[in-house]
Amino acid sequence: MLNYSVDAEGIANVELDYPGKSQNILNAASIGAYAEAMQKALADPAVKGIVVASAKKDFIAGGDLAELAGATDAAAFHAAISGTHKLMRGIELGGKPVAAAFNGSALGGGMEIALGCHYRVAADNPKARFGFPEVTLGLLPGAGGTQRVPRLVGMQAAAPLLMEGKRIKAAEALKIGLIHAVVEVGAERTAARQWVMDAIASGSKPLQPWDAKGSKIPGGGPNTPGGMQMLMAANAMLREKTYDNYPAPKHILSCVYEGLSTNLDTGLAIEARYFTNLVMSPVSKNMIRSLFFGMQEANKLASRPADVPLQKYSKVGMLGAGMMGAGIAMCTAQAGVEVVLLDTTQEAAEKGKAYAAKQWGKQVARGRMTQEAADALLARIKPTADYADLKGCELVIEAVFEKREIKAEVTKKAEAVIGGDAIFASNTSTLPITGLAEASARPANFIGLHFFSPAEKMPLVEIIVGKATSDATLARSMDYVRAIAKTPIVVNDSRGFYTSRVFGTYVSEGMALLEEGVPPALIDKAGLMAGMPVGPLALADEVSIELVHKIARQTRADLGAAYVERAADRVAAKMVAELGRLGRKSGAGFYDYPAEGPKHLWPGLGEHFRARVGAGDTAIPTVDEIIERLILVQSVETVRCLEEKVLRAPIDADVGAILGWGYPPFRGGPIGWLHTLGAPAAVAALDRLAERHGPRFAAPKILRDMAAKGERFYP
Ligand code: NAD
Repeated sequence: MLNYSVDAEGIANVELDYPGKSQNILNAASIGAYAEAMQKALADPAVKGIVVASAKKDFIAGGDLAELAGATDAAAFHAAISGTHKLMRGIELGGKPVAAAFNGSALGGGMEIALGCHYRVAADNPKARFGFPEVTLGLLPGAGGTQRVPRLVGMQAAAPLLMEGKRIKAAEALKIGLIHAVVEVGAERTAARQWVMDAIASGSKPLQPWDAKGSKIPGGGPNTPGGMQMLMAANAMLREKTYDNYPAPKHILSCVYEGLSTNLDTGLAIEARYFTNLVMSPVSKNMIRSLFFGMQEANKLASRPADVPLQKYSKVGMLGAGMMGAGIAMCTAQAGVEVVLLDTTQEAAEKGKAYAAKQWGKQVARGRMTQEAADALLARIKPTADYADLKGCELVIEAVFEKREIKAEVTKKAEAVIGGDAIFASNTSTLPITGLAEASARPANFIGLHFFSPAEKMPLVEIIVGKATSDATLARSMDYVRAIAKTPIVVNDSRGFYTSRVFGTYVSEGMALLEEGVPPALIDKAGLMAGMPVGPLALADEVSIELVHKIARQTRADLGAAYVERAADRVAAKMVAELGRLGRKSGAGFYDYPAEGPKHLWPGLGEHFRARVGAGDTAIPTVDEIIERLILVQSVETVRCLEEKVLRAPIDADVGAILGWGYPPFRGGPIGWLHTLGAPAAVAALDRLAERHGPRFAAPKILRDMAAKGERFYP
């Protein structure tokens, strides 16, 4: 766990070295080893001072998330964290100077361990970051971070570190006072040792600022006028942003307010309780599972078919240089791959490249990219109208118009040029892959790569496996997604695949509520309160009501008698065919988009969808009932996707929802939320909703079975 030695001048060197891992992490075992080493050094009369350093490339990467996710015994956890506080207080008040030397990053618990030392010096390592990412996983810095950071740098400077998980570089950490010095790379241990030697020579007892007589919080404490103002504003902003769905930032504010109103020891006791509460909460378990472990597995390509050699990409063809084609070309070029960007005319292809030039130009203007780097990226994109240029591509992706005939035509033309082994992928958002593959001469090499708009920014790619798609094609496509630094989920072919299908239920439920006479402002506000990034009606406007209408008509035509009309179909038909309101792109949808000023709900909605607000009307649903419908309609459709084997694993559903359409991470995902409720409670809620609102809420058999057998989606 660590290397311990004492040198001739009585300096103990505690070098953290977690066995079998590339990074130091904090868990019961490593904290135990640290405690033992520090207590030994403090107790040994031959030791005069201590230097804490790391044998890895970074200092400490943070807490052990598997251990935190697995913690279920609140009392035991509280006792353990209180023990860590006691250990750190013992070091601070132990009478021997202790310095931490950062060779690289110190994050989360790692930075907190260092804050429990009297001095911190960092190497001028451009890759090193310092901060407390806990809040991004529903936690708080629970090893004294909420108490020591604001006492050290002031509440104002502490806020973005603690409440947003902002990571800063060494220079910034020095500026705000989180660390004491920055030195040349490789000189950090010597500098730490020198400080310890000087402290010993000074003969005075080393003390932390908060233990010094008459110590003051920089910028004032929570009960000063400035402090009060800062905390009130922070609290209001937090509520506006999170609708109180995220307990972590709220608990952090409480720790700062309550803890800084008293002394450090009481503050630490307060923090330990809030921390335990968060660790035990379903929110942190959900966020750790989906945002950390789920994402990590997906990015590692855990579900990639084995025994297929890694595919490296040097040249990729992009058919269609429209909105999606240009974006996909950008991320491909950024991965160092040559891109042939093909459209019907040279001019249209150039337009796609011009879009990329504009986006990268913005980055250059903001100082995030050099002009040379932008030029090098642009040089990798070759706009063309000539299929012969596709020769040598390992992969061709089509993003032409959403028409079967056009997609069939470009498939044939491209396949006539590319090698027999090359992959052909479609970025269709609605057309089943198996059907599109009929145009291909080698359907085993045909696959769906569904990007999200704007493709250059959105992190998810939904990979769709058609009936004939081979494992090798899947594995090699996953290699491409990883090469362009996106996160893949793999699904089986079906109408709307997974993401469009489930995302669509949120939008249609909003439209159903509108038809029922629920005031539109209430519908969209409930969407936001549910944690979704945009209300369902506003979202319908964004994706265009016309598209909702078109998809409904297409599905009706395809399914014939089996088609079940939905409220959303009627609302979309009325908006588009009768009222000519197609959505944002036409400047008129559920909202009006005045040339000046912000959008606002269209007043005509009240006339065409009479809101039930007056006396004599049946009661409108409460906001909680609306939230329940907007959330459970997504969950139930997701379970159907699992039941129909469109989805291969629950975690794919959760990762895909969060990355694909901004599903609220605090719920874990559409499945994570059912897991949180527990199958029996979920079935009871769905039964109630199905009785009132119809079979779209009917609980699928697999969920009923789980409830009956006491099974859960996740351990
Ligand atoms: P778009 O209209 O912006 O671009 C389509 C491009 O394809 C145009 O530049 C057009 O000139 C070109 N094109 C048409 N026929 C062609 C042909 N025969 N050969 C070569 N090029 C041809 O459309 P888009 O929004 O980029 O969508 C493209 C595809 O991506 C569609 O299948 C769409 O369903 C899918 N998609 C779109 C989104 C989205 O949000 N826009 C998201 C995911 C997937």
